Amino acid sequence: MFKKTCINCDSPSYGSSNDQWICPFCETDLTEVPSEELDVGTIELEEFLKLG
Ligand SMILES: [Zn+2]
Repeated sequence: MFKKTCINCDSPSYGSSNDQWICPFCETDLTEVPSEELDVGTIELEEFLKLG
């Protein structure tokens, strides 16, 4: 899971890949903005999927 902070409205957004990334708040294109990988979120998601 990845996190990016919008360069326009400063809001955090989350995604599962680094493909085209549009801010859900102001629709700014954040594709070229460096992302931050969230390992904890990935682990939590895996646990969630196991519980099914
Ligand atoms: Zn934004």
